[in-house]
Amino acid sequence: MLPGCADDTCPKANPTPRLAVKVPIVWVLGGPGSGKGTQCGKIVAKYDFVHLSTGDLLRNEVASETQRGRELQHIMDRGELVPNDVVIELLKEAIVKNLQKAKGFLIDGYPREKHQGILFEQKIGPVTCILFFETSDETLAYRLRNRARKSFRSDDNVNIIQRRIKTFNAEKDLILDQYSAKVKKIDAEKSVDEVFADVQRHLDVLVD
Ligand code: ADP
Ligand code: MG
Repeated sequence: MLPGCADDTCPKANPTPRLAVKVPIVWVLGGPGSGKGTQCGKIVAKYDFVHLSTGDLLRNEVASETQRGRELQHIMDRGELVPNDVVIELLKEAIVKNLQKAKGFLIDGYPREKHQGILFEQKIGPVTCILFFETSDETLAYRLRNRARKSFRSDDNVNIIQRRIKTFNAEKDLILDQYSAKVKKIDAEKSVDEVFADVQRHLDVLVD
């Protein structure tokens, strides 16, 4: 029996097993509108990685119109973060589904706060590197306003944009400090192709 455990149902005696992920796991971080989705699309095409956007996983859950989906909808419409255990479960399921074929995993928009990072590494496995797209708040707001004209995302409306940028800014330093050795900062004010050139410099060393 481990010290501090009353019996063998104690979580310390039975830690949740991590997944055996043998390919790179890359977290893709940056403010809303910094170009994560755009760059992930290009990475998938070149490197055959599987792109998992927590936003998309959550929106799929909402579209499934279950009770849990409806609860998530209300939270997302307020520009807030959904509970960690829901997000990690959705991510874990998606990784398991792609474990055989993926050459790597891009985790887009996660972790959004410090505890999510800890949970990910406990339940799934260690992150290999972190791509962090840096942009000014003005650029984020400008790109999101443009995207709002073309998309049907309910959280891209003007009122919620500032809230989402603020939520991101409030948490980002905690994440960056915690993983400073693995963070690759990329100037995402540049054009899509210039940003992708920087992305490739960081990913080429991870694949053979
Ligand atoms: P995120 O996934 O980080 O929220 P997106 O990839 O959806 O961001 O990009 C947000 C908007 O900005 C989209 O309309 C996209 O076409 C545009 N965009 C993305 N990257 C760039 C860039 N480097 N320069 C100019 N516009 C960009
Ligand atoms: Mg996105």
